[in-house]
Amino acid sequence: MIPISTFSGRKVALFGLGGSGLATARALVAGGADVLAWDDNPDSVAKAAAAGISTADLRNIDWPAQAAFVLSPGVPLTHPKPHWTVDLARAAGVEIIGDVELFVRERRALCPDCPMIAITGTNGKSTTTALIAHILTSAGRDTQMGGNIGTAILTLAPPTAGRHYVIECSSYQIDLAPTLNPTAGILLNLTPDHLDRHGTMQHYADVKERLVAGSDVAIIGVDDSYSALIADRIEQAGRKVMRISRRQALKDGLYAEGSAILRTEAGAAKPLADLLGIQTLRGGHNAQNAAAAIAACLAVGLSAEEIGAGLKTFPGLKHRMQPVARIGHTVFVNDSKATNADAAAPALSSYERIYWIAGGLPKAGGITSLAPFFPRIAKAYLIGEAAPEFAATLGEAVPYEISGTLERAVAHAAADAAADGQANAVMLSPACASFDQYKNFEVRGDAFVAHVAALAGVTMLIAS
Ligand code: ADP
Repeated sequence: MIPISTFSGRKVALFGLGGSGLATARALVAGGADVLAWDDNPDSVAKAAAAGISTADLRNIDWPAQAAFVLSPGVPLTHPKPHWTVDLARAAGVEIIGDVELFVRERRALCPDCPMIAITGTNGKSTTTALIAHILTSAGRDTQMGGNIGTAILTLAPPTAGRHYVIECSSYQIDLAPTLNPTAGILLNLTPDHLDRHGTMQHYADVKERLVAGSDVAIIGVDDSYSALIADRIEQAGRKVMRISRRQALKDGLYAEGSAILRTEAGAAKPLADLLGIQTLRGGHNAQNAAAAIAACLAVGLSAEEIGAGLKTFPGLKHRMQPVARIGHTVFVNDSKATNADAAAPALSSYERIYWIAGGLPKAGGITSLAPFFPRIAKAYLIGEAAPEFAATLGEAVPYEISGTLERAVAHAAADAAADGQANAVMLSPACASFDQYKNFEVRGDAFVAHVAALAGVTMLIAS
């Protein structure tokens, strides 16, 4: 835990006592702050009280006496409308911040030179975060990874000389971190998402821009027009910008050409790394993630050799295009996180010959947008409620069966893949939510791995 000393002896109101909120309250109390916490859910309030946190209905507190209001990133700050606590804090002129802001203030107080890499973007945040942490750890650096990736930032070990922080930031966390100033900040990409919470694309882009605007080195994917404009603006403001691209050779920056990542400096392009054969970094989207990770590792002083060694041993993230097992010329891939068609597209574009397990609880639009990938699908195995709809979309274009359950789909796909003369992948990339058959996509992915592990002659690539 990181005790927050910057509010020692001062009053702090806190709202939102889910996982990270409770950790934040604990860190503030441990640092000597006088915390009053609350949540709209009485169970969360009771849990906090049981953990020794003082609780109070924030409608009735002395707002002007509060030094800060700490809000959980899950609670609306602006859209669709500010939460009632936000209105009360604003009316009293109390600053509104989140756990990432508490961290950056503590880092400035204790160890301003501790390298901090912050990662945001619409897609690829967790992969890039995990990849950077893996490369740093492999190179022997003292590394802490947290934030939106699942480990609350204030549960990490406290800043101390030489300790590196790799922090995934959602736009909500950035919105609550007005002085975010990482050593290296990454903005991977920007596409319309979460607009219910940001109102417009421009507001969403403006929030994301703040992460790179405050960075010593701003690493920006310039393949979409919003991010490209942000790179130009930040450079004009006098910041160091490192552009990355998965699509185009850059005059200055890091870009992918086939499986190679090149760096152009002073007009000359030099190969920096090669992703060929790294199963966990297949696909153009991962070239973008890897280029960003390489740029960040260079920014904190790693050598190309250290980075190359880390890339080669990246284990990948669970449920995201993760190669989990092999039988002969078939690789089994768990992409359970792909809960809609857009999310399934990168996986389908990354393998040439696919035995595709899809279905679950369908989303609007189904799989019609995936038609360009149909020629890669040797056969589809349809499960869950979406099966009839997906069957109708596949029509004559792709052979399919309605397997019904994941267990049958795995067994049938494995048998067909084994009989195929060519190298292939059996892939769960469902393009659907899981809730008709599973508690969540993690449980669905674990079930896939368990069914694969039970196949005859299987070699597992992960611990199962
Ligand atoms: P996030 O943390 O931003 O949700 P993840 O790293 O968990 O992203 O990846 C989730 C899914 O998003 C992946 O399975 C893949 O389908 C897709 N994806 C990953 N990286 C990118 C990228 N750079 N561009 C577009 N899509 C991506």
